[in-house]
Amino acid sequence: MAEPWDVVIIGGGHNGLVAAAYLARNGLRTLVCERRDIVGGAAVSEHPFGAGYTITSLSYVVSLLPAELVRDLRLDRHGYHVYPQGPYFAPRADGRYLRLPADPGERYAEIAKFSVADAERYPEYEARLARIAAVLGPLLTQIPPRLGSRRPRDLLAQGLLLRHLRAVDTRLAVDLTRLLTGSIADLLDAYFTGDALRGVLSVSGVIGMWAGPRSPGTGYVTLHHHIGESGGQQGAWGFPRGGMGAVTAALADAARSFGAEIRTGAEVAAIDTRAGRAAGVTLASGERIAASTVITTAHPKLSFLRLLDPAALPEDFVADIRAWQTRSGTVKINLALDRLPVFAAHPEFDPQVHGGTIVLAESLDDIENAFQQAVGGRPATLPFADICIPSVFDDSLAPPGRHVMSLFTQWVPDSYAEAGHDRELESYADRVIARLETVAPGFTGSVLHRQVIGPHQMQEEYGLVGGNIFHGELTMGQMFHARPAAGYADLRTPVRGLYQAGSATHGGGGVTGIPGRNVVRQVLADLRAERIGARIDRWLPARTR
Ligand SMILES: Cc1cc2nc3c(=O)[nH]c(=O)nc-3n(C[C@H](O)[C@H](O)[C@H](O)COP(=O)(O)OP(=O)(O)OC[C@H]3O[C@@H](n4cnc5c(N)ncnc54)[C@H](O)[C@@H]3O)c2cc1C
Repeated sequence: MAEPWDVVIIGGGHNGLVAAAYLARNGLRTLVCERRDIVGGAAVSEHPFGAGYTITSLSYVVSLLPAELVRDLRLDRHGYHVYPQGPYFAPRADGRYLRLPADPGERYAEIAKFSVADAERYPEYEARLARIAAVLGPLLTQIPPRLGSRRPRDLLAQGLLLRHLRAVDTRLAVDLTRLLTGSIADLLDAYFTGDALRGVLSVSGVIGMWAGPRSPGTGYVTLHHHIGESGGQQGAWGFPRGGMGAVTAALADAARSFGAEIRTGAEVAAIDTRAGRAAGVTLASGERIAASTVITTAHPKLSFLRLLDPAALPEDFVADIRAWQTRSGTVKINLALDRLPVFAAHPEFDPQVHGGTIVLAESLDDIENAFQQAVGGRPATLPFADICIPSVFDDSLAPPGRHVMSLFTQWVPDSYAEAGHDRELESYADRVIARLETVAPGFTGSVLHRQVIGPHQMQEEYGLVGGNIFHGELTMGQMFHARPAAGYADLRTPVRGLYQAGSATHGGGGVTGIPGRNVVRQVLADLRAERIGARIDRWLPARTR
């Protein structure tokens, strides 16, 4: 047996590192075991094209990481720096483009190029989302109560939840219900008629989803992407200097500075239990590491169906984990370029364009069709893409004059998680690049290197089971008290001393750090309760017990 730790954390993704930093800051001897040779999980920077290029392999922008977490962990001292991402820029095959700048006057003029009526209504749309975000945003940071439980402690937590609904009037109650149950198409239909605007706005409703813009629940996903902030601006996103791997490198440094230890190349093969409670982990190497508290941030299907014996867990819990939906059909494409693209619609260099969110999505119908093709078992012929070129701001990512481009695209069939489909993925990537060629002639010739990461690689290499980017679909049936199983949204699990804090728990779904931060509150509360219980046991005469 190696030296005992207070807490062992499975997974060195951002949530595991956040938890490690807070635990160590609270004086607990904390060890992180990460399977890969590098920390970061889905928030990682790598060098597939050689040392000169840094690629933000999977995730690419931040917004949801709470500002107080950044302050608490002093991440700026560990190199955390975020460049604001420019606005949407959607070039079109007909040579026109739509931009959505932050300045209301400029934005009006841009939308009015396509539809004056849409430009008039845009502020109302934003105001509606902002009103709903003001209610739902704070809920994202909460530990959900056990809805339905009659235990006094849970009833109290359920009562406290009502505080958050104080701001809800009759109008907002209906708007909220419609947003949560409806599709992004329903929401957009209520405001806009133009294809260009509806196409761009529907993207944020389907990012990472196995759902098209007409699927119920995609209204909420849009809101999820509006809840965060960057540079103090609500709903804004930013590029971390050094790619997303710099965020997790800063978290790892912070955790170490508080005294945590991080081991890479340390795959956990089993979570050990003794008399029904967590006792540590056994690594794939056979090494056993003792700890009375274990936190898993791995995907729930890995944690509860592979690292534990499901037969030793409650049937109802195991049924929820087996039924957990975790598809998305996402393909991430990373490129190295020898020059910036020249857009036919906007040929001059503009940091607001080249440093913005370049969206290839000309209409909501195109996006829906792409999804329907994937549902039918074929990769989309016209995939949509959410693109950024972080090297426009960040000179650490590529040699002078060269650039890196990150393309988040959808969809291929969800069944692609089961096998590589390399040939099909390469053809799919060709189609995305051809789409760019249409709006930026000469683009194809600027590509020096390319990397295509499909659902199978996401599953096998990065632990994203089913290829879902959030460890589990962000649908209403998998949110809040239902994330990931009935009675266990409070980050505890059926095994005493075992906690969960990956993206498949509430607050997860993106680089939020919220599960990692909240799980520490639960661990500390339970340790305090155990200490008090032990003291009471010692004080009470044996016969009164
Ligand atoms: C293509 C893509 C694009 C995305 N874009 C964005 C974006 O721009 N912005 C955003 O906010 N979010 C984005 N996301 C989502 C976001 O990256 C994830 O939700 C988040 O990073 C997950 O963090 P995590 O710490 O919960 O889990 P992970 O990052 O998945 O970390 C879990 C870790 O556990 C490790 N592990 C698994 N099993 C074991 C084991 N047995 N032993 C030891 N270690 C183990 C894994 O290797 C992994 O490192 C994107 C995701 C993807 C895939």
